[in-house]
Amino acid sequence: MEPKFSKIVSEQMALAAKKAYPNECCGILVGKKSEKGEIEVTEIREASNQFQGQKSVHFQIDPLFIYRLEQELESRGLEIVGVYHSHPDCPAILSKEDENYMVPGLEYVIMSVQKGEVVDVKSYRRDLQ
Ligand SMILES: [Zn+2]
Repeated sequence: MEPKFSKIVSEQMALAAKKAYPNECCGILVGKKSEKGEIEVTEIREASNQFQGQKSVHFQIDPLFIYRLEQELESRGLEIVGVYHSHPDCPAILSKEDENYMVPGLEYVIMSVQKGEVVDVKSYRRDLQ
């Protein structure tokens, strides 16, 4: 099932990816999830890449950032529905690490950024067992 993104959300994600290049950008997808598991992304939250190594190969989001965001969203009837990040000069496919850290039920958007431009966007999800 493909997630729904508004044009503005897609543009904001692409902008974040371009801005972070040649490093990885990362952030949270905020929205709603239906009973059937359909995801609608209504906004994004840029997160700073906390990874302490080569920032073009991996990303890490501050757990406290996620905690605070969850609290804020709860009062608005929204929830965290996924994560986005970019792959600078690499295709928009899941890396081994991406696969290992995927949380079931969340949407993972990967943007391939080549020479500073977003050339491909793909979305992945691991189903609940
Ligand atoms: Zn990745």
